[in-house]
Amino acid sequence: MTTKFGPSGISDSFYEDGYKSSIDYPMWLQKMGLELYEYSFGRGINLKEETAIKIGEMAKKYGIQLSIHAPYYINFASEDENIVQKSIEYLKKSSYFAKIMGADRVVFHPGSSAKIERKRAFKNCKNGIYNAINELIKDGLYPDIMICPETMGKQNQIGTLDEILEICEFDDKIVPTIDFGHIHALGRGALNSVEDFEFIINKVEDKLGKDRVNDLHCHFSRIEWTNAGEKKHWTLDDDDYGPEFDDLAVVLVKRDLSVRIICESRKNMAEDALKLERIYIDTLNALKKKY
Ligand SMILES: [Zn+2]
Repeated sequence: MTTKFGPSGISDSFYEDGYKSSIDYPMWLQKMGLELYEYSFGRGINLKEETAIKIGEMAKKYGIQLSIHAPYYINFASEDENIVQKSIEYLKKSSYFAKIMGADRVVFHPGSSAKIERKRAFKNCKNGIYNAINELIKDGLYPDIMICPETMGKQNQIGTLDEILEICEFDDKIVPTIDFGHIHALGRGALNSVEDFEFIINKVEDKLGKDRVNDLHCHFSRIEWTNAGEKKHWTLDDDDYGPEFDDLAVVLVKRDLSVRIICESRKNMAEDALKLERIYIDTLNALKKKY
């Protein structure tokens, strides 16, 4: 079994168990039986370098592979040179922290097309991201740290599956982050069957080739949506909302994929990551003979 699971962020129960510092989180995750942890700089990079290094040491000690989520304010779609330059700086700083923490991937949201024609916004995004890569190379951060643009859940955000795959065609160290909740929300409840998930995997394979499907970075959570797209992330128990991980698990097993699955449930993301892992293992055992 090589598909791995872990949370984005820290579960409430970690603090309820009496822990106070995120330095202890990798140990706690390992005890739970998880193997990944996505550290979020979504609301800004406010972590001290020495703390980052300690989290990295603990992650290594306890066999937890780290990834980083870059700040949400990145916007490579902007026409404002200042905003694009700041976005490059956020990606650089996130990648620097990834390096000192021993993380190998930086997830980011490409940008927003709110005020600009979409085609133009997308072109800006590609240019901005490729310029950022040149700077990351100069700083010795790329390609050791892979950058992972994410499929987004709102209409006015750049990041449809097609757009993300097109960005990733440029180089094989640009790894797609497939956020299944976002794809479900953007498509107004698009993911309802094994075939719906398989359609996505096929698309990745067609565009990027079979080998790169196994590099996939995935986000999963149940999600509430409106006509504008994503509204709110929920937990696995909130089964009024889709999509269903069981369907994705069948595809992962059937295609023998080894991807990374980061659970983005609210509040109990680590517990839910473990539930996803169990669904995956059950599916693996049930279908082993069949495929
Ligand atoms: Zn994200």
